[in-house]
Amino acid sequence: MSQAAEKPITTAKSRGIARVVSGMPTQDGAGVKLTRLIGTPQLGNVDPFLMLDAFGTDNPKDYIAGFPEHPHRGFETMTYMIQGTMQHRDNHGGEGLITDGGVQWMTAGRGVAHSEMPAQTGGRMFGFQLWINLPAKEKMRAPWYADIPASAIPSFGVEGAAVKLIAGEWNGRKGPAPERVTAPFIADVTLAANASTQVPLPEGHAGFVYVFEGAQTVGGTIVNAGNIGVLSDGGPFSVNANTHGARLLVVAGKPLREPIAKYGPFVMNTADEIRQAIHDYQSGKF
Ligand code: MN
Repeated sequence: MSQAAEKPITTAKSRGIARVVSGMPTQDGAGVKLTRLIGTPQLGNVDPFLMLDAFGTDNPKDYIAGFPEHPHRGFETMTYMIQGTMQHRDNHGGEGLITDGGVQWMTAGRGVAHSEMPAQTGGRMFGFQLWINLPAKEKMRAPWYADIPASAIPSFGVEGAAVKLIAGEWNGRKGPAPERVTAPFIADVTLAANASTQVPLPEGHAGFVYVFEGAQTVGGTIVNAGNIGVLSDGGPFSVNANTHGARLLVVAGKPLREPIAKYGPFVMNTADEIRQAIHDYQSGKF
């Protein structure tokens, strides 16, 4: 048998971890305490993802002030509320509750002004908000949003793990997120102690794992709870939990490779487009 014939038939190399990055404690909105994982001096973006914030607290003082009305243009937000309830209201008549295990997907497009306020006065609030870039040709599309309750998010077992699939495909299951040029893959993956599983990321996607319980390794690199592991190029990859198990978000998408001009809640391609966004918002065009 020749050397070539013995090689397994794979089209993509397995991914490893290119970088491990820890989060930065910060505040946003009217004083909500959170940990910023992407959108920091250490990790500006993971194209097409512009920001990832994690919030997790039992103290209402850390979240009660919420996010009063503020604008967005040029990208999308995905809010995954693992525990707690937040009310969303926008200037296009959109209104909804994001609650325990649910997701809100909001496409700001050419402009949304909205508020995101806690709909609870006590107890735990725990979740994530991810900012996903839009390609230049869709930055000025019409705003859109969907509230996706936990019951609409496929929850299933695969070898080694329990999966909640928000976006993308895994074992023939499909997440409820909208179809986008960036083809996002977003999964909440729980591994028991010492378990491992193969994550079916498409080749060409860029992404990261964010570990929020326990610890796991990808390609021999340990990523502990609270840290992001930026994935190297490749296709599917395996994650291995340590002796305490692990829970992590796996997030990936097709990179846009376009210039990014980011100013607060506006993410465009050029400085001129940012000036236009500020002008349009201030003159009530959102
Ligand atoms: Mn917002």
